[in-house]
Amino acid sequence: MFKQDQLHRFLFENYSVRGELVLASETYQHILENHDYPQPVQQLLGELLVATSLLTATLKFDGDITVQIQGDGPVKLAVINGNHQQQMRGVARIDGLVPENSSLKQMVGTGYMVITITPTHGERYQGVVALEGETLADCLDDYFRQSEQLPTRLFIRTGIQDGRIAAGGMLLQILPAAEQGSAEAFDHLVQLTATIKGEELFSLEVKEILHRLYHEEDVILYEPQAVEFRCTCSRQRCADTLVTLSDEDVNHILQKDGNIDMACEYCGTHYIFDADDLAAIRTEKKNRFH
Ligand SMILES: [Zn+2]
Repeated sequence: MFKQDQLHRFLFENYSVRGELVLASETYQHILENHDYPQPVQQLLGELLVATSLLTATLKFDGDITVQIQGDGPVKLAVINGNHQQQMRGVARIDGLVPENSSLKQMVGTGYMVITITPTHGERYQGVVALEGETLADCLDDYFRQSEQLPTRLFIRTGIQDGRIAAGGMLLQILPAAEQGSAEAFDHLVQLTATIKGEELFSLEVKEILHRLYHEEDVILYEPQAVEFRCTCSRQRCADTLVTLSDEDVNHILQKDGNIDMACEYCGTHYIFDADDLAAIRTEKKNRFH
């Protein structure tokens, strides 16, 4: 049965623990479109997508989260960017060969995970953690242990469902006002949640999944939120980047190619600027600053 990409929030009635469950397969397929990523990189992007979706859903304000992996291995960068409306995009930059079944360490080498939280109104927060875990989920556990945040666990699954690539996951988090004894309850719920299988996440109804995992618990399930692929690139944003380049560089490209072709690396959209466009952009820039 076809399941739409959705994020669900839920609450354990008898414990100070909240949860999230996301299915993001269609969004994942969009992110991989127009790219020819090796299989391990596809999987990494799927895991990052699920993590970013689950993390953005923990925000208590409007804004966006970028989860980015960077290192000195063949995968220089893998990044997913998402916002509170669950609009997601992502890209990977590869330089070199990524063998089949590469581990995270083989792909990224010595690297870091950088989580950037940008509120629409307010100050940007950035957390950095060395990539020491075997998997992305391990690295996220390190991140939550090292930063002074609420105890949080993520469960990420990627795979194939009905012949198409699929991704989903779950999150558990202790509530800020948790009473004593919540830690044991949390550990118990973590053990239960860890048994979730990819095929269950990809194909079963949410109520069925929650019943299978927590049949002895009272769980309140809230209204779901749609998850979708959406790129935030625009011609204006490209123009804003162009004015930061030197006139010399811009003129050089114009003379060589006749126009400037800026392609969005996230969605593949091309924005073409010719000499007239550039003149207009420069005039506008002057008017803006004088
Ligand atoms: Zn784009």
